[in-house]
Amino acid sequence: MSTSGTVNSSLVQEWGEKVILVVEDVDTNKIFFDAALRKTKATILWAKDGQEAVEMFKSNRIDLVLMDLQLPIMDGYAATREIKAINDTIPVIAQTAHVMSGEREKCLEAGCDDYLAKPIRLQILMDTLSKYLNS
Ligand SMILES: [Mg+2]
Repeated sequence: MSTSGTVNSSLVQEWGEKVILVVEDVDTNKIFFDAALRKTKATILWAKDGQEAVEMFKSNRIDLVLMDLQLPIMDGYAATREIKAINDTIPVIAQTAHVMSGEREKCLEAGCDDYLAKPIRLQILMDTLSKYLNS
């Protein structure tokens, strides 16, 4: 069944074959991602800091990374650089609470493919993920 043209169709996604690495250190944000992504049936892997994200990326087949930028131990910029050095074809979507000017540029410079400002709206999250996972 085609859902093209249906309003909010991006909210209904089937990603049972996909593996998404969510890098996030704050529990309330994890709850949001878990609730948003669970119904897509994607496999969700979690990392709580940049170093753990790089380790998870090395040891798993990942289709997309949702990368918080403000992280302990190793920040999201450094982790994105390391991940892109390993495999630059895997999309990294940055998510940040900071809305300072220049951050978007700093983020793209680190190799991020896209950028989401917190608080993230469900529709924007799903639209952005669809752009990379459904292509
Ligand atoms: Mg954080």
